[in-house]
Order: sequence, then C-alpha cells, then structure tokens
Amino acid sequence: MCELQINTKSKSYFITIGYDILHTLPQIINSLSPKITKILIITDTNVAVNYLDEVKSKLTDQFDVLDFVIPSGEQSKSMMMFEKCSSFALSSQLDRNSLIIALGGGVVGDLAGFVAATYMRGIRFIQVPTTLLAHDSAVGGKVAINLPLGKNVVGAFYQPEHVLYHLNFLETLPLSEMRSGFAEISKEAMLSSKEEVNWLMEHVKQITDLERNILKQILKMGVQIKNNIVSTDEKEKGIRAFLNLGHTLGHALEAHLGYSVISHGDGVAFGTLFALYVSENLFGVDLHFDEIRKWYNQLGFPLFTNIDSAEVIKLMKHDKKNIGNSIRFILLKKFGQAELHEIKQEKIHTLLNNFLD
Ligand code: ADP
Ligand code: ZN
Repeated sequence: MCELQINTKSKSYFITIGYDILHTLPQIINSLSPKITKILIITDTNVAVNYLDEVKSKLTDQFDVLDFVIPSGEQSKSMMMFEKCSSFALSSQLDRNSLIIALGGGVVGDLAGFVAATYMRGIRFIQVPTTLLAHDSAVGGKVAINLPLGKNVVGAFYQPEHVLYHLNFLETLPLSEMRSGFAEISKEAMLSSKEEVNWLMEHVKQITDLERNILKQILKMGVQIKNNIVSTDEKEKGIRAFLNLGHTLGHALEAHLGYSVISHGDGVAFGTLFALYVSENLFGVDLHFDEIRKWYNQLGFPLFTNIDSAEVIKLMKHDKKNIGNSIRFILLKKFGQAELHEIKQEKIHTLLNNFLD
C-alpha cells in the first residue's frame, strides 16, 4: 500500500493506493473527528452492480449506511441529479456530522463532491475512486456539475477527508475507460520528466492485464505529478493550464467526430501526439515522436486519418482565449518543460495536414 499526503491551503489529507485495502475504510472513518454518525454512499449503476454491497458490508455493523445510485454517464452531473441527491440526503436526515462516500469514477466524484460541498454548507466526504481517470479529480479539489450550456459551470473547490484507491475495483473497468485514464497519465508524465516518460514506455506495453505492481506505480505517478502541478499553481498562477496538453486538438476532434464516436482519452492521446509533432517542428527538438506514435498505436489508441482538417481548425479556433488569427497550444521544449504558444492558423493547418498524412 502506498500513502501520499496532499497539502492544500485549506487542509491536508491522504490518498492511499493499493490492492486489498478496502478493510481500512472503517478505520479511516473512525479516525475522523467529530465522530461520523450517518453515511451516504453515492455511486452509479455500473459500479453499484459490482461493488456497492461489498463496500456496505464493511460499514453496516458500525454505521448507519444509506445509498443513492445515479444513472452512469456524464448526464448525471446535472442540476436535477444534484437536487435529487441533496433531497435524498435531507429526507434521510443527514446532518453536519454525516459523511458522503463517492464510490465511482469522475462523474460520481464530481457530483457527490459537490453535494458534500453544499449540503448544509458543507459536510465531509471520502472518495473511493473506481477508474484510472479519477486520479485526476482526486487531487485539486474541484467538484462540479454541468449546465445545459456548459460543463462544470457550477462548482466549488472542496477537499475530501481521504481518498481510498482500492485497486481491485479497477479490474472490471472497460478497456476504453482504462485507455482514457492512461492517455491523461502519459500526458502528465510528458509534462513532468523524460525519466517518467521512459519508465512508462518501458513498463506499459499493453493496457489490458496490467501487472498489479505496474498499475499501482502508474497511479502513484499520476497522483504525484497532478499534485506537483496543482500545488505549484497555488503560487505560480497558470501552470495548471499545461494540463491542457493535447486537449486543443483533442476537444476539436471530439466535437468534429461526435462524442459517441471518439472518447475523450482517445482524443487527448491523438492531440498529445500532434503537440509533440508541432513542438519538434517548431523548436527543432527531439521528443521521440515516432517512437511514441508507435507506442500509442501498440496500446490501442486509434489514429484518426480521415479528418477534415479545415473543419477541425475552425473548431480549434472557437476557444474564447484565442486572439485574432492564432490558436493557443501547449507545446513542449522538452519533457518537463511546457510552454503556451500562439500559433498562426495557416501554420497549424499545414502542420496538421502533414501530421495526418
Ligand atoms: P471517469 O470520468 O473517471 O472516466 P466516469 O464516472 O465517467 O469516470 O465512468 C466511466 C464509466 O465507467 C461509467 O460508465 C461508469 O459507470 C463506469 N465505471 C466506473 N468504474 C467502473 C468499474 N470499476 N468497473 C466497471 N465500470 C466502471
Ligand atoms: Zn482530459
């Protein structure tokens, strides 16, 4: 088991990562002060089928435990679901000494975290993430729901009491979800150091059937890098924006091809490759583009070649932050050194056409 301490301005908490660690959950809850009276587990339908009973069974002999199961998927991060959850909490008489457990991926974490942040002006919550991608929301304290016109528009910064990554839960995660999480972790490694990128390339040759120890290391790496970036950003504003590496093209591809055709992670992986390609071309640096492209291919990330580049450029230009005829890109001078650049649309168009060839 590995334990990482996260320090924020408002509080400090631990993330424990390991196999067979679910039995520590009651101890963690018992260590909280004031004492927890009632627990509400918020989870989604897919996770509930697999794990709700297991989690409840660890708690029911010591606590009064309730659960609220939401439909799986991004649509559940809504005002309506927020109201349903909060109303359930109230009708179940949750009070200031109650605890919310977010059992699930990013959707559950965001919604349950936001309910915890706002219910009676804030009650405590613990995250039990069940996806690889959720490492991202486990650090940084961002919780939110969506409005019909915008993602994560209504939210807060609210830290959990503890994050318990019981990795056995990741064993039923669909392959596409594993890939999505890995796209973000390899992106984080590129923002951090060449050593970490090399380590991943050497140890991760496929995403299915990852060795237990390797999966644990990967998650630890993701959490540590995210934590470094977030804590540096508290002082040095803006570094957090580097986490958008690969997302300029990624988001445009999602919009262009349709969210049901391409997953966020596959879009990010493709966008990250493009950022490496642009960086090599503009700065004359070596970022092992060819090698990484082969690696991503081997890991099962699709290469999208049949793309209308003019259309994709138009979509990339939509970002409000773009000025005039340029598009903002996060690029790399080397692994561990990212920079924000404004690049002329024509230049990007040429590079994109060459990249797609
Ligand atoms: P994230 O934002 O972390 O990718 P989501 O909450 O969007 O997570 O979950 C992605 C999908 O995976 C959802 O359909 C969810 O129900 C499902 N899911 C989450 N965890 C597991 C798991 N451990 N096993 C099987 N399916 C899971
Ligand atoms: Zn992302």
